[in-house]
Amino acid sequence: MRTIESLGNLASRTVIVRDDLNVPLRDGAVADDGRIRASLPTLSALTSQGAKVIVVSHLGRPDGTIRPELSLKPVATRLGELLETPVSFVDETIGDRAHAARAALRDGEVLVLENLRFQPQETSKDATEREAFARELAVGADAFVSDGFGVVHRRQASVTELAAQLPSAAGLLIERESAVLERVTGAPERPSVVVLGGSKVSDKLGVIDHLLDRVDTLLIGGGMMFTFLKAQGHEVGASLLEEDQLDTVTSYLERAEQRGVKLMLPVDVVVAERFAADAGHEIASVEAMTDTPFGADGLGLDIGPETAALFATEIARARTVFWNGPMGVFEMPAFAHGTKAVAQALVDSEAFSVVGGGDSAAAVRALGFTDDQFSHISTGGGASLEFLEGKTLPGLEVLAS
Ligand code: ADP
Ligand code: MG
Repeated sequence: MRTIESLGNLASRTVIVRDDLNVPLRDGAVADDGRIRASLPTLSALTSQGAKVIVVSHLGRPDGTIRPELSLKPVATRLGELLETPVSFVDETIGDRAHAARAALRDGEVLVLENLRFQPQETSKDATEREAFARELAVGADAFVSDGFGVVHRRQASVTELAAQLPSAAGLLIERESAVLERVTGAPERPSVVVLGGSKVSDKLGVIDHLLDRVDTLLIGGGMMFTFLKAQGHEVGASLLEEDQLDTVTSYLERAEQRGVKLMLPVDVVVAERFAADAGHEIASVEAMTDTPFGADGLGLDIGPETAALFATEIARARTVFWNGPMGVFEMPAFAHGTKAVAQALVDSEAFSVVGGGDSAAAVRALGFTDDQFSHISTGGGASLEFLEGKTLPGLEVLAS
């Protein structure tokens, strides 16, 4: 990938940076600034060279209309607090006010433009519309740095078309994310363990398919475990089940066996009487799931303690661990133990440990872990999953050297 250095001396040059500053807001302020922090190294690298930096990003899904509650203004404020350089904001992307603000930028300053997705062209299916918008964004700029890893799987004006308008390169975040995910999927140091969970198995089929040929051990928890357990002939009560995926899952179980991949499913599950934080619940062994007091209505909402211990043992032996998908409904404390145990196992291990997935990253932080306890927490939910599926990501392709 082309790096920032390939753009030459950027002093007094105007550089557009595509970041992913799509952060959660609460009461008009930034509730979690993880993605803003992740954007800082590239922005500092540019401002310290004396570049004039224009930051563009989306926030939420305004679908091409102006939605004041999705303005990037609070994000620009937070960025200004974190970055030791002046940060200004303009409530447009390509209008007269935006152009005036851009022209007024001085060396080493940062300007944040309004939410890109207030403009329908940003996410248009029509390439000529995206191109026209990218051309407007590029006016007066000398270079483009792509650093929003969370959007590189999208074909959108500021991700793909803008890169073609200007000399362009990958920022430090995209460089790091790509290198980490490559290390996990390319030739990982062995033994390599992948832990998968989350809600739907259908969201993760591509990842399982691609990784089955590349890892030593696959540990399955979360809602997706029930489709696997059912495929093995267990009863799963009213737990999440994707009947239409039973054949696919069966074929994965067979493939794992043929390839000598250790695919481990839970041996015990926390079964609740209903989907609620205060629901009555108990630990059921998978072998005896039909005998639980909740019978056919029982809902499996977490892996059990024996499973958590088995998974932790596998993780302790690993040299590389990638984890995507909470082990249970971690949003409810009663069903967060499995997720917490797996996170702790990653923290305790000597392995190169990577967490990917939006909810997984949120889960480890909500459970009190910090980013520096892991080798890497990916900022890209969908993008990191598509990378792990072995797909070509359009936003990375345009940065290839
Ligand atoms: P990620 O965003 O990290 O890829 P997913 O979006 O696939 O993760 O899944 C996250 C969701 O999975 C969480 O909201 C969690 O509550 C849910 N989940 C985990 N285990 C279960 C389960 N046994 N039953 C229902 N939902 C579950
Ligand atoms: Mg998710």
